[in-house]
Amino acid sequence: MKFADLHLHTHFSDGTFSPEELTGHGLRLGFAVLALTDHDSVEGCAPMAAACASSEIEFISGTELTAEYNDIEVHLLGYFLDIYNERLLAEIAKFQAVRQNRIREMVARLNHLGVPLETESVFALANCKSPGRPHVARALTKAGLVKNPDEAFERFLKKNRPAWVPKAKMSALEGVELIHAAGGLSVMAHPGLNRTDEIIPALVDAGLDGIECFHTKHSTAMSERYLEIADRFHLLVTGGSDCHGFSKGKPLIGTVRLPYEHVEKLKAMVESRKSGAANPP
Ligand SMILES: [Zn+2]
Ligand SMILES: [Zn+2]
Repeated sequence: MKFADLHLHTHFSDGTFSPEELTGHGLRLGFAVLALTDHDSVEGCAPMAAACASSEIEFISGTELTAEYNDIEVHLLGYFLDIYNERLLAEIAKFQAVRQNRIREMVARLNHLGVPLETESVFALANCKSPGRPHVARALTKAGLVKNPDEAFERFLKKNRPAWVPKAKMSALEGVELIHAAGGLSVMAHPGLNRTDEIIPALVDAGLDGIECFHTKHSTAMSERYLEIADRFHLLVTGGSDCHGFSKGKPLIGTVRLPYEHVEKLKAMVESRKSGAANPP
């Protein structure tokens, strides 16, 4: 039986592994397919593709976009992306700038609260273009200002805590369209965590291709619920661990094993889109 993990992060966003390290773990755990889905970044895809090729693992280029629909936050996974697509890269650069400004604002709020964290220490630790709250949490821990990242989130960084800053997001409909424009498939990430069920029909109308039924934080009942929804709306089924390395506790790779048949369906969809585009009716 062949398995895939289609939701992984590296140090090109808020994960701690390099693409090579992550591929090494995938190989050790016997995965046949890995997809990289760093937040607002495709930078790790080329090195990960190379590492997977030398380990005889099938690789899928991806990203995870933070979007919203009617003020509801939704994470969109893009798969089989053309990582050199100019429009995709321009949009990603825009949201990377949003992330960097958000870090500056969160540090300013911390300073205002009397917590002497320096912006540069967060950027130095993040060492990537897509910094996020986990980097602030780790920088606070490293500076001895909190005991651990969990405390940083609890006291300061969680939504509505004193150093939390809302994030400007792209519209989910635009996100779906952007992923399609870059030749990819658009998938709603971990619907069980975001409680986004009510917006599924609107995203399906906008062209959503799939839904992440299997995720480390989905219960069996949740997975079954989303399999049923996938069936009802004719959506493709994906799954992944959402591994961030050691960023949020233990590495999660290996906790979700998506059967290969789902990858075959994803590939068939991408192929039919391509041939459809090449031979318009
Ligand atoms: Zn997510
Ligand atoms: Zn993720």
